[in-house]
Amino acid sequence: MILVYSVDGADRITDITGPWDEFAAANGAPGLTAATQRGKSLPELVTGVEMQLLTTMLLRRARGGTPLRLPFRCDAPDERRFLEMHLQGQGNGGVQIESRLLRAESRLAVALLEDHVPRTDEVVYVCSWCKRARLPRQEWVEIEAAVEELRLFGPGPLPQVSHGICPACRASFFS
Ligand SMILES: [Zn+2]
Repeated sequence: MILVYSVDGADRITDITGPWDEFAAANGAPGLTAATQRGKSLPELVTGVEMQLLTTMLLRRARGGTPLRLPFRCDAPDERRFLEMHLQGQGNGGVQIESRLLRAESRLAVALLEDHVPRTDEVVYVCSWCKRARLPRQEWVEIEAAVEELRLFGPGPLPQVSHGICPACRASFFS
């Protein structure tokens, strides 16, 4: 599975090839189909101010000439998906972004990540990039470990999931 898309010099999406719709659904935004996204600002499509700033920063770095290759996760409730993103400046101000699935592992569906689960007012933070979850003691662990530790098995009300960037991912982007 390879998803390729491009942005112009103003970060607007110009081109999409591949399973965009599937990616959008896996990232909790099934309404953001490819057909509706051309011409839109890529940073504005990603969830959370932190991810928006990060997207803008990565696009700027790719325009600077050095191609970037970054591992990331794009999990579904019942599957861990390990991907790699490759950003390459196009010389005309545009950037091509290629996301490639490296491998996938099945798992028991994580109710915390399912749509249409009743939610409490509590919040669990999940890293948008590596999909690890934050424990109360500020430790970031695989989501299954967080579910185990915090006993978030469902089907009853579960906390809301809020996305951010974990310290390890943030450090890797600025290295
Ligand atoms: Zn992370």
